[in-house]
Amino acid sequence: MLGCLYGQAIGDALGLGTEFLNKDEVLKHYPNGLSRYENIIQDAHRRRWHKGAWTDDTDMMLCILNGFDNGKFDILQVAKNFKDWADGEPMGIGAHTFKVLAMGDYVEKHDECSRLWWELSRKSSAANGALMRTSVVGLALDNVSEQAEAICKLTHYDPRCVGSCVIATSIIHDLIWNNKQLSYDEIKTIGAQYDDRIAEWIDLAYQSDDIAKLDLDETHSIGYTLRTLAAALWCYWHADSFEAGLLAVVNEGGDADTNGAIACAILGAKYGYNAIPRYYIENLHNEIEYRQKVNGFIALAINEKE
Ligand SMILES: [Mg+2]
Repeated sequence: MLGCLYGQAIGDALGLGTEFLNKDEVLKHYPNGLSRYENIIQDAHRRRWHKGAWTDDTDMMLCILNGFDNGKFDILQVAKNFKDWADGEPMGIGAHTFKVLAMGDYVEKHDECSRLWWELSRKSSAANGALMRTSVVGLALDNVSEQAEAICKLTHYDPRCVGSCVIATSIIHDLIWNNKQLSYDEIKTIGAQYDDRIAEWIDLAYQSDDIAKLDLDETHSIGYTLRTLAAALWCYWHADSFEAGLLAVVNEGGDADTNGAIACAILGAKYGYNAIPRYYIENLHNEIEYRQKVNGFIALAINEKE
């Protein structure tokens, strides 16, 4: 569990270094590749964060984590936590998430608010803002799909978003609680329950030997949930260590903090906390605060098993 939650924050923090850059810009700024927080360029976007700090992806993951009570996530509490976070000074909040959370009666009517913005987009909005924060849901002992669906729909109503969240959390859940890797066929079956458009992205991730084939820096659909899902699945199937996956996904640019957050949460669940190079843990900004929150949650989650 610790590996998953540290993976989330590390992928997010290092990914900020290439977020919104295309592959050529990544190479220009980081000729040898980005592998260290301290080398993150300080342009107008990035200098708002300390080097090694996580962004909105992990902020919102913590909103979910803080809603864990009595063995499950309290959906209304998570909605309140999202709203409180959005009403503060949220750095890097996504456009879709912002619109939904800005509605005055969001907490009481979260379902209507979320559906409304999806319908206003003519059911085309399928951003990765739910997938980026969902990893912790996979750590619950049971009813993971049901909880991942409900928490996704707090802001993202599209079935491609819901399917992305259920796939990612199911992978994490099976790695952590069942010591089992969900197969390609099992993942395809889950995807088909939500939306036919998910299948081609699973196939792309499975069949591509090189992560570059995913075109993660493609700008027309940056932030598309299925592209981010493909990045995470690519790492799940093809990265032979935590660090190899982290560096592969981050150095592709695009929505790199979000791609890194969910990809590395899965890699952390797969390879375990001890497989994460110490550098990335120790140099995470606010690491002590993060460890306390995460350990508090893990104690509660493990208690359920006993
Ligand atoms: Mg972010």
